Amino acid sequence: MQIQPNAVVTLHYTLKDNEGTIIDQSDDGSFLYLHGAMNIIPGLENALTGKSAGDEISVKVSPEEGYGAKDPARIQEVPKEMFENAADIQPGMQFHAQGPDGNAVVVTVVEVKDDAVVIDGNHALAGMDLNFDVKVIDVREASEEEISHGHVHGPQGHDH
Ligand code: ZN
Repeated sequence: MQIQPNAVVTLHYTLKDNEGTIIDQSDDGSFLYLHGAMNIIPGLENALTGKSAGDEISVKVSPEEGYGAKDPARIQEVPKEMFENAADIQPGMQFHAQGPDGNAVVVTVVEVKDDAVVIDGNHALAGMDLNFDVKVIDVREASEEEISHGHVHGPQGHDH
């Protein structure tokens, strides 16, 4: 079958930046998602619509169709005293924090000053072109339960 809304898709992918460095790839062979349920970024989902098992595609996804542009408002300076382990904080460290909408966000330390820490709450892939090489391994119809939950069940999906 072709990839369409409410299809469960199994694929292999490699994600590279514009310099060809691999940023991410499907680990133990495959990645599953529910098509049309916003499980993956729009640029990749759109490119996969209508494809079938065995198809291979290469697609460049712009930030607008990926993780968005880098938002300068998400880069903030916070007092060092807000961190329990202030002395150990290094650029590149990541913390879980609560975003403006109450959702959990991952923030990355970009700079450590004398009495403040600069953190970036943007997604690590925000503002980047994403170059995907994808091979479609399998396409099946989702169960009604998967459709109502909005995600894939089974060994590589949600277990409940
Ligand atoms: Zn579920």
